[in-house]
Amino acid sequence: MPSLSLPTLGTPLSDAALRVMLLGAGELGKEVIIALQRLGAEVIAVDRYAQAPGQQVAHRAHVIDMTDADALRRLVAAERPHLIVPEIEAIATQALLEIEAQGLAEVIPTARAAQLTMNREGIRRLAAEQLKLPTSPYAFAESLDELRRAIDAGIGFPCVVKPVMSSSGKGQSVLRGPDDVAPAWDYAMAGGRVQLTRVIVEGFVDFDYEITQLTVRAASAPGGDVGTFFCEPIGHLQQHGDYVESWQPQPMSARALQRARDISGRVTTALGGRGVFGVELFVRGDEVWFSEVSPRPHDTGLVTLCSQRQSEFELHARAILGLPVDTALREPGASAVIYGGVDARALRFEGVAQALGVPRSDLRLFGKPESFARRRMGVALAAGDDIGQARERARRVASTVRPVPV
Ligand code: AMP
Repeated sequence: MPSLSLPTLGTPLSDAALRVMLLGAGELGKEVIIALQRLGAEVIAVDRYAQAPGQQVAHRAHVIDMTDADALRRLVAAERPHLIVPEIEAIATQALLEIEAQGLAEVIPTARAAQLTMNREGIRRLAAEQLKLPTSPYAFAESLDELRRAIDAGIGFPCVVKPVMSSSGKGQSVLRGPDDVAPAWDYAMAGGRVQLTRVIVEGFVDFDYEITQLTVRAASAPGGDVGTFFCEPIGHLQQHGDYVESWQPQPMSARALQRARDISGRVTTALGGRGVFGVELFVRGDEVWFSEVSPRPHDTGLVTLCSQRQSEFELHARAILGLPVDTALREPGASAVIYGGVDARALRFEGVAQALGVPRSDLRLFGKPESFARRRMGVALAAGDDIGQARERARRVASTVRPVPV
């Protein structure tokens, strides 16, 4: 069993250090690392490519294939972290289960949560079949024929097909009629994260809006039991399965908000451990459907860098270190994604000074070493008197920053 005693903070790079290993060091990991370092932790950033954003601000960096269980075990044996914090889904989770069972390190929130959420099937079956949470109707298929049968047998059109191992809309399509089935199957086979001929087909939910309910499992008193804390709901806009804008707080009816929190509380309690979870929900009127959950900070939660007293990254750092959290909103805020717009080895960002002239605005440029047209290279942030004003400002900041290839 994993050790339940929390390691104490101490001088980094000494025998007293509290060592935290991030598995995945993208833009979200970078903010978690900064938050951990402010509290005096020693941080090791691991990614599959060199100079990942989080590696640029960590004490040490390693480049490994995180789906390689042996490579992961060797690195943990060499670095001896107290805490392992997965930031991405594509990890050899079997190795994490073993590491946790041997008490070598604590996995955040738990190795089981990392395993269940890396595959859409694991988390969907937990949510719908064990916890009986409302979800879209769904089925799994391993061939084009099976997919056709599942749609005919009850899912119907419109529906959504996704590889079970995928995220951010990769390999995902919306099907309007029978002619869309074969192309959707081919697209899913090309877009999965690992070669796996399995897809989920979901009934299309005609929602009014979708939210991320950030939910924190953290000590409710110093040294006390783990409690559940909710942030204000985050509204967001998706394009091609990728988030382009988010804002907080998303206005909701009292009934829908209560249902969102009930669902989020139940699914995060079932996953267990400590840390921030991003629960994705669809809302129509007072009705709420569970979609998915990330057992870590969520990309749409970047908005909390400007809207909350403690950002989702600070909340994650505090929760995993066993410290108290404060999920209060400070003011309405919004975020807007800045894409690379071009495929290039390096970029210059023009217009930054003008962009930051927008009132109550801020910016993160992630420092990714290579740009692609649809790669997220930065995010614009802005506060406002209401979410309308905050969104307009964030969009203005994002469109004023111009990435140009060198
Ligand atoms: P996902 O990768 O599952 O988070 O899906 C990305 C986005 O696709 C979601 O945020 C929704 O905007 C949309 N989407 C996914 N599944 C459904 C569904 N069953 N019904 C309607 N829209 C969906």
